[in-house]
Amino acid sequence: MNADLERLIALQRFDSAADAARKKLADEPEHERALDTRLEAAKQHVNVAKAQLTANQAARRDIEKELALHQGRLSKFREQAMAVKTNQEYHAIQHEISHAQGEIKTHEDRMLERMLEADELTAAVKKAESELSAEQKAIDADRKAMKAEHADLQASLETITAERAAIVGALDKQMLAMFELVSKKRNGVAVAQAKDGICTICHVRLRPQVFNTVRRNEEIVQCDSCNRILYFVPAPAAAQATPDASPQPAS
Ligand SMILES: [Zn+2]
Repeated sequence: MNADLERLIALQRFDSAADAARKKLADEPEHERALDTRLEAAKQHVNVAKAQLTANQAARRDIEKELALHQGRLSKFREQAMAVKTNQEYHAIQHEISHAQGEIKTHEDRMLERMLEADELTAAVKKAESELSAEQKAIDADRKAMKAEHADLQASLETITAERAAIVGALDKQMLAMFELVSKKRNGVAVAQAKDGICTICHVRLRPQVFNTVRRNEEIVQCDSCNRILYFVPAPAAAQATPDASPQPAS
C-alpha cells in the first residue's frame, strides 16, 4: 500500500477515535445531571411517603381528641342519668347517651381505618427508603464507572495526540493539507472505504477505472462526489485464513 495512503487512513482512525472520545467527555455533564435527577426522585418518594405518614399521625391525634371529648360527655350523661327525676328528663338524657355512643363508635371506626392506613404508610416509607438506598448504591457505582471512563478517555486522547503527531510528521505536507481541508468540509471524516464500486460514505458509484485504481491502494484517489480519500480493503481469503474450518462442499 502507498505509504501516505496508509498514514492518511491512520490519521483518520485517530481523528475518529478522538472525536468519539471528545463526544463521550462532552456527554458527561448531562449524564451527571441525569444521575442527580434519579437520586432526587428517589429522595422525593421518601419525603412524600413520610409526609403521608405524618399526616396520618396528625389525623389519629385529632380523632383521639374527639374520642376523648365524646367519652367525657358520655360519662357526664351517665352520671346525670342517675339523678333524673322525670320520665321526660330520662328520655332526654338517654337520647344524649345514645348520641354520644354513636359518635364514639364512628370515631373508633375512623381510628381503625387510620391505623390500617398507618400500617400501609409505614410499609411504603420502608419501601421508599430501601429503594433510595439501592438507587444511591447504583448511582455511586455509575459515578465511579464514569470517573474511571473519564480517566481512560483523557489518557486515550493523550495517546492519540502523540501518535497523530508522529504520523503528521511523516506525512507529505500537501497530503496533510488536502486531508485537513476535506476533513473540515466533511464533518471530520476525510477518508472513505471504497467497496463494490461505491464510496461507502457518500454512496456514489465510482467510475470503473477510478475504482480499479483505488483497488490497488497505490495512489491517492479522491471520491469525485465527496472528495474523500478512498482506500480498498481486499476480501480476506477465507480458505487460507481458516485452515482448520469444516470442509466446504466442492463447487
Ligand atoms: Zn464519496
